[in-house]
Amino acid sequence: MIQNKFYDVAVVGGGSAGLASALKVAKENLSVVIIERDNTLGGILNQCIHNGFGLNYFKEELTGPEYARRFIEQVQNEKLDVMLNTTVLSIENGFNLKCISSAGLFNIKVKSVILATGCRERPAGAINLCGDRPCGIISAGSAQKIVNLQGKMIGKNIVIVGSGDI
Ligand SMILES: Cc1cc2nc3c(=O)[nH]c(=O)nc-3n(C[C@H](O)[C@H](O)[C@H](O)COP(=O)(O)OP(=O)(O)OC[C@H]3O[C@@H](n4cnc5c(N)ncnc54)[C@H](O)[C@@H]3O)c2cc1C
Repeated sequence: MIQNKFYDVAVVGGGSAGLASALKVAKENLSVVIIERDNTLGGILNQCIHNGFGLNYFKEELTGPEYARRFIEQVQNEKLDVMLNTTVLSIENGFNLKCISSAGLFNIKVKSVILATGCRERPAGAINLCGDRPCGIISAGSAQKIVNLQGKMIGKNIVIVGSGDI
């Protein structure tokens, strides 16, 4: 168990929502920590290597990682803490975050929590995939992550069900 920490605000999740809200809080001179379970900030943006991001906010066309980088650089220039490889397991009484990292279990006490944990694609069982051996059926988001971030092919003959842009 490592030592407990105290902050005004904890932002759970370091994707685009978490980065933007942490920056806003830091500018209010409150102590803030971003807690991210992954080994890097950026969330889903990191696997969206196509362009099309940033048109509204930066008035230029950026890829997901480029868009994330702009915010990560701002975060690095602000007085706020970032905990990577750290998962929030539970929030007790609204003010006590139970966390786990390679250092072990520890608590973070806060006055406020911003939940910016994104959303999850529903697993195969929840979307009524027929058959009892749906081996090789993966969601678009998982495919994107495996190909774009891990550099591995997911197969050679692929059937895509659905016609969304991803
Ligand atoms: C496959 C896919 C493709 C997309 N493509 C586009 C696109 O082309 N253009 C576009 O505009 N938008 C696109 N989007 C949407 C856009 O990328 C997302 O809406 C946006 O990035 C979500 O940001 P977020 O911060 O809400 O969540 P996320 O980016 O998901 O960030 C949430 C973060 O919270 C962390 N986290 C979760 N639980 C915990 C926990 N308990 N403890 C600690 N950390 C935790 C996660 O590791 C993650 O880093 C796409 C989304 C997906 C899923």
